[in-house]
Amino acid sequence: MTPGVSAAPLSKGGGIALRGLAKSYGNTRALQGLDLDLAPGEILGIAGPNGAGKSTLIRILAGEEDADAGQISNDDGHCTREFLAKHVAVVHQEPQLFPNLTVAENLLVGRERTRFFRPRIRQPDRELMSTMGILVHSNDAVSKVRLATRQRVEIGRALARNAKIFLFDEPNSALSADESRDLFRELHKVSEAGNIVILVTHRLDDLVRHTRRVALIRDGRIDGQLTGTGLTEEAIARLLVRGLEPDEKSNDAARRARKEPGEPPLLQVSAWCHTAKAFSNVEFALASREVVAVLGVEGSGAREVLRSIAGFENSRGDIRLRGREGVAHVRSATAYVAPSRSESLFHNLTVGDNILARLARPEIANIYGRLKKAEMQSRADVEIRRFWVKAESASQSITTLSGGNQQKVAIAQAILKRPQLILLEEPTRGVDIGSKREIYQLLRDFADDGAGVLMFCTEILEVFEAADRVLVFVQGRLAASIKTADHERIEELAATVARAAGEAV
Ligand code: ADP
Repeated sequence: MTPGVSAAPLSKGGGIALRGLAKSYGNTRALQGLDLDLAPGEILGIAGPNGAGKSTLIRILAGEEDADAGQISNDDGHCTREFLAKHVAVVHQEPQLFPNLTVAENLLVGRERTRFFRPRIRQPDRELMSTMGILVHSNDAVSKVRLATRQRVEIGRALARNAKIFLFDEPNSALSADESRDLFRELHKVSEAGNIVILVTHRLDDLVRHTRRVALIRDGRIDGQLTGTGLTEEAIARLLVRGLEPDEKSNDAARRARKEPGEPPLLQVSAWCHTAKAFSNVEFALASREVVAVLGVEGSGAREVLRSIAGFENSRGDIRLRGREGVAHVRSATAYVAPSRSESLFHNLTVGDNILARLARPEIANIYGRLKKAEMQSRADVEIRRFWVKAESASQSITTLSGGNQQKVAIAQAILKRPQLILLEEPTRGVDIGSKREIYQLLRDFADDGAGVLMFCTEILEVFEAADRVLVFVQGRLAASIKTADHERIEELAATVARAAGEAV
């Protein structure tokens, strides 16, 4: 449809119709003729590759920005930006609240203050807080409560101001499994109350489990919708990888995977068997400059393969690093990053001390064993910037950082050991989406310098974004080795990967 033309009838029964939405930033066309219908009581999933226009759509729907062309309408006609700002609520992965106000005060923000009365918590507010499980925190400053609670406050505030359209933007990317479950319970309640609910997420399992319809956005338009029995992880994965242009990924991947003639693989594993039989006869090689993801459900052996290379699982077979055999040699040239940050980080130390924690002694102490404090201080500052750690200073406690920034410190520790190979178990577990991208970029830069990255991952889409190749494990066997840039086979590959991951749900 031509942008700017509102040809479709207005949706009936409390729905919202988006027609021909267009938005450009300079020469970038973020949205170009997007049409979508939103129905009350339905949870609509939105997926799309990075840069597809999802955030732009959210901002326009939330009344934060105007579209250049197109129309948003309800039964009564055109929805103005003011109408949208009033009725649409965005639930962010990092809630936008006033940190120094209490939970209860945040709920009242925006409510009118009269000449004599400040807005007061009334009985309905109390009931709302009670049903949302935040009443116990009503007098706590928002900065002191957990992320999951802050999100509930954000939802509660939207309900209290009678919002009708709820946009959940990657809401659970930094939540634990239990917290995620609670959040989705709220999301379903909000929908069942007759509101319009949109869930934007990279997580295919959440889309399948919690929505009835998924719209795929690509290049600023709706590029396919899935409903009913057609809504499977595999189908979403196929849609998502369909539009990847060959040169979008493969140029880089081809350059990276290019081997010097005669250069042995960085890592070579053959006849590799787990003593306790989690996997057997595994064989693969990893080239210099390659980022490889190991994917598989718990029990598939994928996690154990990675851990065995790190030396944490008893295994036997042939393992070589740059042609030299032996587990001990591999371990000496490898750095491992654990899935749980509490294993990597020292919670009683500062950000700076943590980042330098795995440096060899000569780098941090003089020949008499005294710490080179001034040098360490300036080195820590440099590394904090290099690894994009968002910290106010090197001397603040590591525990004050967000999960994503703590993980960057854990990865920096490992990279600063200057290993030839880095092994990571779930490197972005509990990490917000922005930090995820930065972490993958850090790993990519590390590999580009001639090293290798092998990581155990659980999220398919990320694997496509982050890795050159995916090793899929099923029942203890290496079932497929898939180049993410192999566009001839990519749909089939997406299906294999999706199936392997789907078993995990
Ligand atoms: P997504 O959320 O799907 O990753 P976005 O809506 O953020 O996509 O971006 C769509 C396109 O618009 C991208 O090419 C992005 O670089 C561009 N874009 C988004 N916001 C801005 C902005 N404020 N200024 C310039 N370009 C932008």
